[in-house]
Amino acid sequence: MSVSLRDRIKSRAYALGFDLVGIALAQPSPHAAKFTAWLEAGYAGTMAYMAREPERRQDPRNVLNGARSVVSVGLSYYTLRLPDDILNDPSRGIISNYAWGADYHDLMLPRLKALAAFIQAEAGGAVATRAYVDTGPLLERDVAVQAGLGFTGKNTCLIHPRLGSYLFLGEVLTDAEIAPDPLPSSSVGCGRCTRCLVACPTEAFVSPYVLDSRRCISYLTIELRGPIPRELRPLMRNRIFGCDICQEVCPWNLRFARPAREPLFRPVDLNRAAPPLLDLIGLDEAGFHARFGGTPVMRAKRRGLLRNVAVALGNWGAPQAIPALIQALHDPEPLIRGHAAWALGQMDDQRARAALAAALKVETDEMVIAEIRGVLNSQGD
Ligand code: SF4
Ligand code: SF4
Repeated sequence: MSVSLRDRIKSRAYALGFDLVGIALAQPSPHAAKFTAWLEAGYAGTMAYMAREPERRQDPRNVLNGARSVVSVGLSYYTLRLPDDILNDPSRGIISNYAWGADYHDLMLPRLKALAAFIQAEAGGAVATRAYVDTGPLLERDVAVQAGLGFTGKNTCLIHPRLGSYLFLGEVLTDAEIAPDPLPSSSVGCGRCTRCLVACPTEAFVSPYVLDSRRCISYLTIELRGPIPRELRPLMRNRIFGCDICQEVCPWNLRFARPAREPLFRPVDLNRAAPPLLDLIGLDEAGFHARFGGTPVMRAKRRGLLRNVAVALGNWGAPQAIPALIQALHDPEPLIRGHAAWALGQMDDQRARAALAAALKVETDEMVIAEIRGVLNSQGD
């Protein structure tokens, strides 16, 4: 019974558009202790939700009472590798590949729910199911490895030996008994490669397989809600939403990543993947929604994205950015004003200094005042 049920579930998952599917026993995560140590070291930064309900995160049976099986799925979102002249153009902001198209939650959750309904129908009798896309209290990557979807790379991503690592993961937990897939060969892995560890611009890897999120550009540009630590801002260069560098350099992606089947993940045009910074810094709330509504970029909110854009403009350091940054000193959001002040401080320009001195006279927010003073004091005004 179990094997044929497994095959029917997998066929259905592929028919729903998933690229990978595997089935694991619902059992405690083998890396639960390491995850706890990672949290205790503070590497999750301000992502307090990761520390919530640790017992649920460490064992799927604590998420769904009586769970016996986890169906793990992967959906490729890779579209293309941006040309180096675009990636390295400081006047453009680079958006992470996963955020070029539709929000994957909107795409994956209905399909996972359809798969859950299929399991209920096929298993016969009353079986419980629960579907998750990265919002659930699960160690998703561990589950995916146990379900045979790939191995964990030193860059902490799940890597499939024939698809690479540009994958969204999701799960259906169920108390139905389904024969698990065999684990992949342990001989497949990173070997002696260290490319991702070397390439990371912020040195966010404490060691292979251990990421200090507090230094990771993905965390800084998406998850962090407050000011970006000043010492890390120059290292972010032109990455304004997420960062793919440790995936871009990975030989598994260079060799195997191929364009996703899902058309909704494809960029509308280059300006979606690498928009000119000056097109973004003046966006008001309506403009932000018009441009990024329905995409993962919404997670950063306008204030988070424009904070990142201001940092990238400062890293660009071009005189043509000065008027827009001076304008941003008057933005309603202190977070944007503060980072615009820092960016103007990178310009070494008389107009910029005069605008900062004028802004200081009317500024009331402590964080912004500190940013402006930091610039003016360092420039001797
Ligand atoms: Fe480093 Fe970027 Fe990878 Fe984060 S996403 S670890 S910043 S290379
Ligand atoms: Fe592993 Fe090398 Fe890929 Fe890093 S770049 S994840 S070390 S194979």
